[in-house]
Amino acid sequence: MVALLTQKDLQGVQRLPFCYLCGKQFIDGDSINRDHVPPQSTFHRRDRQPLILSTHRRCNSSYKSEDEKIGQLIALRRGDYPAKNQRLKLTHFPNMRMSAVENLNVEAAIWRWVRGFHAALYRQPIPADARGAIQTPFPRADRLHNGIHVRPILPQHLAFVDSIKANRLHKNLDKISCNSGKLVYECAWFTYDNDPRWFCIFAMDIYDWKDLGATSSLPARGCAGCYGLPDDSIPENAMKGLRSSIIIPNYDVLDAFSR
Ligand SMILES: [Zn+2]
Repeated sequence: MVALLTQKDLQGVQRLPFCYLCGKQFIDGDSINRDHVPPQSTFHRRDRQPLILSTHRRCNSSYKSEDEKIGQLIALRRGDYPAKNQRLKLTHFPNMRMSAVENLNVEAAIWRWVRGFHAALYRQPIPADARGAIQTPFPRADRLHNGIHVRPILPQHLAFVDSIKANRLHKNLDKISCNSGKLVYECAWFTYDNDPRWFCIFAMDIYDWKDLGATSSLPARGCAGCYGLPDDSIPENAMKGLRSSIIIPNYDVLDAFSR
């Protein structure tokens, strides 16, 4: 089991020898930055103990604007939306009784963090051609001529949630907890039936953020997903998930962090 839970654990991964964003090893002369994963603006000032990873300065700076926006989106969850420098473009759709953020790719931002969590846990980058699927806590929608179409919840999402809950019961998850426990990331590695390819199932919670995307017509859903490395390998020290048919209470099938 790999666990990064204390300040000392988190400090131990601050100076990994590669950039978690592009995956390249640092070489002499590189301009190196310290990147908060997720961005610092996501968290309240009192929620210290961030996960900080090294990146190339140029890799990190290309995401500055996106980081500000997702920080503001999550700040909404904790009732702390900034009066100035609002970056989110919110559009209201009165016929659907909902508002949508139009200028932020939440999924891409969360994938960047997953790259960071993988780097921190296993001390190796995720190659650029890794593949995966993710269910974000915020429903995704496509704009149509007469409104928006909300994409359905990923069909695998329930299996992701179930796997995380079952393995948590057996203390069988790799885990990162930072920012005073306001961010929790958990994962384990599995193979397909009769197939040696490994893949990681993960779940992530920030300030109970699933409620931010919930409406009367759209149930709250947690954040979970899976990814595989291009060579289908499992990191050396990664936790192998238990595939069992143990039935555990699973009252909220859409969130890995509820009971
Ligand atoms: Zn880089």
